[in-house]
Amino acid sequence: MESKHFSHVHGLLFHQTAQGSEIHCAGCRSPGSGNIYACWKCNYFLHEDCFRASRSLTHPAHPHHPLTLVSYPTYPSTQFFCNSCNLVGSGFCYCCSECDFDVHIHCAHMAAPPHLSHSASVPLPNLTNNQSSPFPSYVPSS
Ligand SMILES: [Zn+2]
Ligand SMILES: [Zn+2]
Ligand SMILES: [Zn+2]
Ligand SMILES: [Zn+2]
Repeated sequence: MESKHFSHVHGLLFHQTAQGSEIHCAGCRSPGSGNIYACWKCNYFLHEDCFRASRSLTHPAHPHHPLTLVSYPTYPSTQFFCNSCNLVGSGFCYCCSECDFDVHIHCAHMAAPPHLSHSASVPLPNLTNNQSSPFPSYVPSS
């Protein structure tokens, strides 16, 4: 049975990829396997998690406005600057159009991206610590 997703004109089919085969998720722009949703006509794939991501959420780093999930950034460059991991992103992002606050879909759901945890060269976002934050305070020991 096909399921509609706001990011794609065609219905997507649930699919379990065979072991060893990888797809490229159009949502988070990462490789994926296992449970996915696919449009075979277009070779358009989404992780099940990306498919099911809610259209709006509140991020602890930006508690004042709800963030909206968009399938492409609202900027002409089609790239955005993630306010959580400080990397440029494309694909799905959660954004606050009022404040130009953008985060990757995976940064919105993950407190600390694992690929950053051992990299001291990447500055972590400055969070106001006035409430319990899911982000651990991280001091790189050189
Ligand atoms: Zn994905
Ligand atoms: Zn399609
Ligand atoms: Zn990010
Ligand atoms: Zn905002």
